[in-house]
Amino acid sequence: RRVLLEDQTDKKGRVPLGIKGRKQKRIVVTGGAGFVGSHLVDRLMERGDNVIVVDNFFTGRKENVLHHMGNPNFELIRHDVVEPILLEVDQIYHLACPASPVHYKFNPTNVVGTLNMLGLAKRVGARFLLTSTSEVYGDPLQHPQVETYWGNVNPIGVRSCYDEGKRTAETLAMDYHRGAGIEVRIARIFNTYGPRMCIDDGRVVSNFVAQALRKEPLTVYGDGKQTRSFQYVSDLVEGLMRLMEGEHVGPFNLGNPGEFTMLELAQVVQETIDPNAKIEFRPNTEDDPHKRKPDISRAKELLGWQPSVSLREGLPLMVSDFRQRLFADSKLSGG
Ligand code: NAD
Ligand code: UDP
Ligand code: UDP
Repeated sequence: RRVLLEDQTDKKGRVPLGIKGRKQKRIVVTGGAGFVGSHLVDRLMERGDNVIVVDNFFTGRKENVLHHMGNPNFELIRHDVVEPILLEVDQIYHLACPASPVHYKFNPTNVVGTLNMLGLAKRVGARFLLTSTSEVYGDPLQHPQVETYWGNVNPIGVRSCYDEGKRTAETLAMDYHRGAGIEVRIARIFNTYGPRMCIDDGRVVSNFVAQALRKEPLTVYGDGKQTRSFQYVSDLVEGLMRLMEGEHVGPFNLGNPGEFTMLELAQVVQETIDPNAKIEFRPNTEDDPHKRKPDISRAKELLGWQPSVSLREGLPLMVSDFRQRLFADSKLSGG
């Protein structure tokens, strides 16, 4: 199902015509020990590039990239991107971010970290890709969301530091692009799930899956009628790589247009894991967006990209990873 990028080998390691002798790229992935980052690193390593992961392990885990340790093409640096760093690279995938609701709070990573990575891009002439978010649309008044929509964000709410942090990061990226001629790429990522997701960081898919496996009730916040669109991680990684290699700045929505209410999601989790799993209603968080669904026409047209894994196909892949990790955890704690 994976579509080949121009400069990629196929499953059998054959190099498609016309790309022999392709120069190995030096690539930094900030946040590369995290959920999305580690899957991206797998693809870049598979392609034969030289990959440096910069991560402070705030929510990421060394286990996610352990299988590359010892490979001369791979390097892992424990570093907080809020501090400057000197590296010589061709491309920067900037994913470092306190990315889950439980970890938002105040954290300068989105602003200061992004500034440092743009400074690095400027100094060495690297191409810079920012992983922004659908949260820049806030509680959207347009549905589905198109990239030209400016959003509806509360500047002083509980989730503002994430939303506004990413909005500022986009502003900085565009200023460096216009002012210093940096090649930038901006992806606005919609809710993504898959293996290696943090088990307890409070996002809805990981919560429901962990709860069903632990035989706990699924916690639905509010009336459960709010919607989200869930994208499988391999689709996202394909989109990020196409964006980086392509000629368009963006921003591009990268998400799966399949839209589900939280009650529908709970139902899919029940079907996949345990039909008898109970549902428990909890008060919703403040400023929770009512609806979210990407319009991906721009990515389809300009990147030739669209997701190919449905929720019902992707969820079981995540469940087997969660089952293994939860089981290993319970063995460690003697449970
Ligand atoms: P994640 O928490 O698994 O990954 C983030 C990584 O960044 C972690 O490894 C963490 O340790 C690292 N990090 C955090 N602060 C850092 C700092 N100051 N210095 C160095 N490293 C730091 O989250 P993810 O889901 O993989 O998200 C990756 C990116 O994609 C983030 O920028 C996030 O905002 C964006 N995104 C993700 C989703 C999603 O649904 N997963 C949706 C929209 C946007
Ligand atoms: N920076 C960095 N690595 C580099 C180059 C710059 O971390 O290789 C940081 C630098 O410390 C600064 C930020 O990026 O805080 C912005 O750099 P820029 O050169 O754009 O701004 P200036 O230093 O001129 O204010
Ligand atoms: N949510 C839920 N139960 C949970 C966790 C989240 O019903 O255990 C809801 C949450 O209120 C929101 C939606 O699921 O409406 C998506 O939440 P998440 O934090 O995963 O992503 P985001 O709000 O950033 O899109």
